Amino acid sequence: MTNTRLIDNFNREHTNLRISVTDQCNFRCIYCMPEDMQFMEDDAIMTFDEIVHLARIFVDLGINKIRLTGGEPLVRRGVPELIKQLGEIKGLKDISLTTNGIGLITQAKDLYDAGLRRINVSLDTLDEAKFEQMTRRKVLSKVLEGLQEAQRCGFDPIKVNAVAMKGFTDDEIVDLAKFARDNAYQLRFIEFMPLDADDIWGRNMFIPGKEIINKIGAVYPLNPVSMNGDAKHDPAKLYQFEDGKGDVGFISSVTEPFCEQCNRIRLTADGQLRTCLFSITETDLLTPLRAGAPDETIGDLIIEAVKQKEPGHQINAVNFVKPKRNMSMIGG
Ligand code: SAM
Ligand code: SF4
Repeated sequence: MTNTRLIDNFNREHTNLRISVTDQCNFRCIYCMPEDMQFMEDDAIMTFDEIVHLARIFVDLGINKIRLTGGEPLVRRGVPELIKQLGEIKGLKDISLTTNGIGLITQAKDLYDAGLRRINVSLDTLDEAKFEQMTRRKVLSKVLEGLQEAQRCGFDPIKVNAVAMKGFTDDEIVDLAKFARDNAYQLRFIEFMPLDADDIWGRNMFIPGKEIINKIGAVYPLNPVSMNGDAKHDPAKLYQFEDGKGDVGFISSVTEPFCEQCNRIRLTADGQLRTCLFSITETDLLTPLRAGAPDETIGDLIIEAVKQKEPGHQINAVNFVKPKRNMSMIGG
């Protein structure tokens, strides 16, 4: 039992917050956003002071883990300073960051010096041409360089997030596993979710987590890891390589939803609280913050929004309604 006051009507306790620091990005991944993506106005985006202020309120209510994400968090200047400030919040036990990796070449050391230790780098393919097709940018070698730089600086663990897509990267699943094993990265496969701006999501592009497990297991035998304690809230089902060379995780949100164990909430770059990736409503925290509302009032808004959290996503329901915002606007 945690001390969180963020408990919903289904008795789920929330201790995990994802904060999007910007919706902007230097990539245009096809499963996320179009080439001509329209970004938010600058003054709609939370300042670092506002992020830290809201983070303090969340931590007072029981949040103990924060992940910074985006858009691409490292396109925003000063993220190491933000990490330093967040690190000073008493009660916050863990800060992590999800990035497309390219900014690590120049920023890994500053991030490490600011106190960050855990990062996730998204990398779907090791093939330059496919990388360009997936991200609409020809920069695979820079992402690989960013990963190496992060390792040199001492980041541990380094997780590699991959979205596998049928017709694109299904033939590279085992190569990615080999790459992660050889470099001591923890590989996590995320099932493609209907959160793309271009509406390309569909069963013809979708690869179920089970299929990926079978492909990897056929070459590198895998054993499931039992998930107890805090780990039971981890959306990734873990499998250990039988030969002891690390593990691989599968975030199978579509085929094996983990909503019953969910302990996450999200804050968008424009200060809207979302209780689920697939929420169709949001709670505005930035407007009351800017209007000078007391912390207690904002805290009550958060408590009430969490209480009303939806039981689970409806991706597999016939009447599924796609959220208006895509992954980069929500903060993946
Ligand atoms: N720009 C950073 C990055 O790419 O890591 C952080 C933000 S990105 C939105 C966070 C994660 O969401 C990435 O791992 C990305 O692959 C994943 N993602 C984006 N769109 C997705 C979708 N439609 N389905 C599944 N994962 C998605
Ligand atoms: Fe940018 Fe990340 Fe979306 Fe790719 S997945 S377009 S890197 S925000």
